[in-house]
Amino acid sequence: MGDDVSITGRYWHEPATGAFRGSAALSALLSVPSRIYSRHEFLAFVHPDDRIRVSRMMDEANSATSTYDIRYRIVTRDDHVLSVCEHAKMHRTGPDSEAFLLEALIRIESDGDDEMHSRLPIEKDRLTGLLARHEFFRRFENMIRDHPVDRIVLVNIDLDRFRVLNDSIGHRGADVAVCEIARRLEAGVGRDVLLARSGSDEFLVASVVSRGSNQAGDFVDELAAIFLDPIVIHDIRYSMTASTGVALFPRDGKTSDALMQSSDAALSDAKMCGGGAVCYANAGDRTTRLNAFSIELDMQRAIRESEFVMDYQPMFDFRTRDIIGVEALLRWRHPTRGLLMPSEFIPHAEQNSVLMRELGYWIYDHVFAQVHEWRKAGRRIKAWINTSPSQVHHQHFEADVCSRLLKHDVPPSSIGLELTERTFMGRRSETVQTLQNLKDLGVSIALDDFGVDYSSLAYTHLLPIDTIKIDRAFIREIETDRYEKSIVHAILSIASELGLHVTAEGVEKAGQYRMLSEMGCNSFQGFISARPMSPASFLAFLVSGNGKLAHSSRVEIPQRRVASA
Ligand code: C2E
Ligand code: CA
Ligand code: CA
Repeated sequence: MGDDVSITGRYWHEPATGAFRGSAALSALLSVPSRIYSRHEFLAFVHPDDRIRVSRMMDEANSATSTYDIRYRIVTRDDHVLSVCEHAKMHRTGPDSEAFLLEALIRIESDGDDEMHSRLPIEKDRLTGLLARHEFFRRFENMIRDHPVDRIVLVNIDLDRFRVLNDSIGHRGADVAVCEIARRLEAGVGRDVLLARSGSDEFLVASVVSRGSNQAGDFVDELAAIFLDPIVIHDIRYSMTASTGVALFPRDGKTSDALMQSSDAALSDAKMCGGGAVCYANAGDRTTRLNAFSIELDMQRAIRESEFVMDYQPMFDFRTRDIIGVEALLRWRHPTRGLLMPSEFIPHAEQNSVLMRELGYWIYDHVFAQVHEWRKAGRRIKAWINTSPSQVHHQHFEADVCSRLLKHDVPPSSIGLELTERTFMGRRSETVQTLQNLKDLGVSIALDDFGVDYSSLAYTHLLPIDTIKIDRAFIREIETDRYEKSIVHAILSIASELGLHVTAEGVEKAGQYRMLSEMGCNSFQGFISARPMSPASFLAFLVSGNGKLAHSSRVEIPQRRVASA
């Protein structure tokens, strides 16, 4: 312990390996039998209100010269609260070593602080420092009383297969996992959110959410997202999942007991799905996400391991037959399941707004970089990117698009966003404003899959769009079905009145091509002229075409396929 009698304890922590070792004095102070334990176990002794601060200081000490001083409280095994003062310093582990070791000296403050011998109020859970169950309910009742006209969401989370984890890594290991999940939940929710450990592997979360929007759904998605990263215990990665039941005040119950019952029932439904499911108490909200989490975990991994690729499908102008742009289409080269098309995984990603945003930004970065590369090679090609509602609805969407334009040195006019009508449901005015700003900047906006969802020709003029893409479903039968043909006519005439560009998707046959061309449709994409291609094939496609494409980017519709061409 050294000469300085005021030093009460000392620990060493190696951030790279997670190794943590306490001095004998510290171990005695904390009443832990061994000197070797984990950082999580040490943090479990730090007062819950100070824990994030201490953990953050440890994380931020990341260079050889880092030092810091911090005051915080330690709660001993017998619930005594000690105010301590820590001086920490980072060392290299050897003269040429790149590895670091954090050394911390801990002193009990001797200035007669009131808190020094106070007791930790018993309402906290010992292991995690979260609220204990009965304290949660006391505060939850207050929350309901204080917000009679608001909406409150109660989330009941139960770790899946916890007993198996307990058996395989032991109680101490399982405790580490529980602490890590508590820490992630704590870091993921705001200050006004109530968070409790309500059983050995159960957590309760309650928050006031705004009415109208889908804030409750987003909140639940954010909580669910904490399980996406595996938990590392003794260098082994454990992918954990949880079953989640959700109840909403006032609809699913007006008292804390009634809400708890509703969320319990939803949790049982979720458990029946075999793990990783989120169920809502109200049948109308009830979205059962069977096994969705395993796909989500897999997608998270796939983003890290760069398994996603983009194909590009050109769009052509009917009149000039120039390539006027390409649509970027996502594919997943899955290591065991082979090449997966977006319909096999995008719907899963869209269930989780956090994951979809992460994937969306990967796509943006990837496509923007491709556009930049084309421009460097002298090809000014506009790329259209399918964009999910959850991406657009995120508060930083506009800023994130702008920063990517700058980062990749791409002009806004080289990018088009394809959005479906769903994007504009609910939060219309905010969404319209965001997109109007991007449009003012020069980014093009298309209404995708037009006609499938709501066919709201009536409000199209209110949306900040410049292009309509008619869905493949209408094109398929256009030659034989009079009804489909008249819808396309209506779309074309409204678009022409509003000065909107119209693209037809999925043009496969010469008859469709001819009819759309005669009806005055502006452009098309479809297998008749080009399938989605890898960037290399697309380049070859540009260069081929009897050498014409290389100079003018013009493409000829093959004579044998298109009679009128
Ligand atoms: P979409 O936006 O309607 O994209 C057009 C789809 O039609 C693409 O399917 C394309 O390969 C296909 N297609 C193009 N021409 C023809 C044709 O002549 N005949 C037929 N039968 N199909 C044609 P894909 O690539 O399977 O994409 C399916 C959907 O997945 C897309 O529909 C889009 O909604 C979504 N998606 C694709 N990439 C992304 C992405 O990067 N982000 C997001 N959020 N969604 C994406
Ligand atoms: Ca599209
Ligand atoms: Ca479509």
